[in-house]
Amino acid sequence: MNILVVADIHANLTAFEAVLADAEKHGKIDEIWCPGDIIGYGPDPCECISLLKNISKVCVAGNHDWAAAGKIDTSDFNPAAAAANKWTSRQLSPEDTGFLSNLPQAIEQADFTIVHGSPREPVWEYLFSTEEARGSLAFFKTRSCLVSHTHQPVAFLFDESGNGTTRLLEDGTVLTLDANRMYINPGSVGQPRDRDPRASYGILDPLNGTFTLHRVAYDIQSVQERMREHGLPALLISRLGVGM
Ligand code: ZN
Repeated sequence: MNILVVADIHANLTAFEAVLADAEKHGKIDEIWCPGDIIGYGPDPCECISLLKNISKVCVAGNHDWAAAGKIDTSDFNPAAAAANKWTSRQLSPEDTGFLSNLPQAIEQADFTIVHGSPREPVWEYLFSTEEARGSLAFFKTRSCLVSHTHQPVAFLFDESGNGTTRLLEDGTVLTLDANRMYINPGSVGQPRDRDPRASYGILDPLNGTFTLHRVAYDIQSVQERMREHGLPALLISRLGVGM
């Protein structure tokens, strides 16, 4: 069984489509799970929502999703993110806004809890380290947790004594799901921030107990071109090219 995990799509339809096409090359995809931030930053919010809605029933809310829906405010956003969020809100249909607003903060699927940030603070908290991840262990019941939000592909693994290990996930890394508790972050489809500009995603195979990280190149320039046409902030346009 193959579950495609796509996080932080961030309104980048070109990257999203490249990921869907690439994932099929690794075998039939049975389900698609999304740990949040479908929109924000990129030029294609409505297209990304409608594509995801058609192919996935398992999606949680990210901070950008709820902010664009007016459910939380953007006072914690940096100026470029807040400006992009304002632009995004204006593009959404009432149906899009309703869809984003109704996304849950957490979903349990089999042995996985899916959240955007952390189980403790699902919409806002970043998990950059095992120490930060440890603080959320008591806030989910399943063995494993899928997170995103940092845009960096990584796993935090905890043994039975509670010792934590960080494992960076690169293109082709196969993670065996044998830790006592674990967090997996598949990185970002639409705005990677680990100095690799290629779209990042994962394929989870719960029956074989593996999670494989993949990267795929996409036409970044065409996305940057659309962002320029829409007057989105220059900082957000340039960062796509460097993956930071
Ligand atoms: Zn994000």
